[in-house]
Amino acid sequence: MYAPIMIRRLTYSAQRSAIIDKAQLFVSAFSTYDRLDRDSVSEAIQSINDLHTARVVITNAGAECLYDSLNAGSAVGKLVLYPEIAEALAGNDTVYIRYETDQIISKAAIPIVAYNRTIGAVYLLERDPDQAALLAGLQQTVFWISVGLETVIILFSILFFIHYWKRMRRLLLSIRKLHGGDYSVRLPQRGRDEVGQLGIAFNELAQRLNQSEEVRKQFVSNASHELKTPLASIKLLTDSILQNDMDRDTMREFVADVGSEADRLTRLSAKLLELTRLDTQPVEERELIAVAPVADRVLRMLTPLARKQDVRLELDCARDLQVLASADDLYQILFNLVENGIKYNLPHGAVTVRTYSDADCTIISVEDTGMGIPEPEKPHIFERFYRVDKARSRKAGGAGLGLSIVHDMVLRNGGTITVTDRDGGGSCFHLRFPTDSIPMEA
Ligand code: ADP
Repeated sequence: MYAPIMIRRLTYSAQRSAIIDKAQLFVSAFSTYDRLDRDSVSEAIQSINDLHTARVVITNAGAECLYDSLNAGSAVGKLVLYPEIAEALAGNDTVYIRYETDQIISKAAIPIVAYNRTIGAVYLLERDPDQAALLAGLQQTVFWISVGLETVIILFSILFFIHYWKRMRRLLLSIRKLHGGDYSVRLPQRGRDEVGQLGIAFNELAQRLNQSEEVRKQFVSNASHELKTPLASIKLLTDSILQNDMDRDTMREFVADVGSEADRLTRLSAKLLELTRLDTQPVEERELIAVAPVADRVLRMLTPLARKQDVRLELDCARDLQVLASADDLYQILFNLVENGIKYNLPHGAVTVRTYSDADCTIISVEDTGMGIPEPEKPHIFERFYRVDKARSRKAGGAGLGLSIVHDMVLRNGGTITVTDRDGGGSCFHLRFPTDSIPMEA
């Protein structure tokens, strides 16, 4: 309700200056007098036109009334002890404005000064019903406008609240559904405000959960399939041993087959465990590791397999090149890559581990002279359970997990891995570890 107060203040201020101006007009009529008496006052008053004032009182310096426009000068000769007149005789202009039921009452008293001496006072009283009616009308209008505006604001706030409440409720219900395992739930994308942003974040989260659920299901189904195959072979072999009369050599052969299927199961479960470890455990403390000794150890471990496959192992590493990685991870990465290089090689082939560096990274490459990887297969070889040549991979004891383990390990050690064709046949895997994360030597 600030507007009505403002209007009243403005009206009062206009009234104040109007009544002061009028009083000044009366005072100026006495400017030629050095003392006031009834005659001089009535003479001066004659010269002033009718100013529509409800009452005019002129007093001398002793507050004796010399002129009173009301009731045929009923107060003339008497002392007029209005506080406004007392103030004016003390030398101060006084104005007083008041609003009553249907009129504005203005009172003003100002001193009449001659030769720096107060010789009397002019007192004016005005009643203004027109201004009061105008003021009342204006206040009424402003009041109704305010009520209208407030109603609109309240209505809008209620609508806004209902709208927000509905959106928050929808979000809450969707969260509950998501919590209950329904990852297909999505929120309609509306608005760029906070709730809209929440909706976008929710949809992204639901999509990610959906994807990881899909990956999980795929993983479980692939893993079960991989486990089923050797188990079925073991069952078949043992059934044959039990049901058929067979000579000692055939039986030994069958039992050896059972053993190799069991080995395959062991390798498979070790890789599955490795993948679970990568998913659940953070990377062990990374440290600066010289690549050459690790590669050397890997080649020594794989020499028997390489001999069996008639593959040569070569090392072409700068002794001082280092990478920032977990030592166990780096060993496992190189082991899997070199092992693949041997498994998927050709007789009299070779696998070479090289290191070199460029402006901002250390590069380790593992290249082989094997069968190579067809271009369309390259984007998939780091996926879990993906095999290019299924028959050969299975024969070599692989389950399509080695490269996905390598990929996850390289990433969590801050590196990248790519594969290209080797000139003259075969594949070349490139590992890049950034050198800017290596701390400077003191
Ligand atoms: P696996 O355990 O079957 O070897 P990997 O994840 O290590 O699984 O490899 C995925 C597939 O990529 C393999 O089945 C194989 O077909 C192919 N592959 C991996 N390394 C090589 C390589 N050096 N040369 C040719 N093919 C390869």
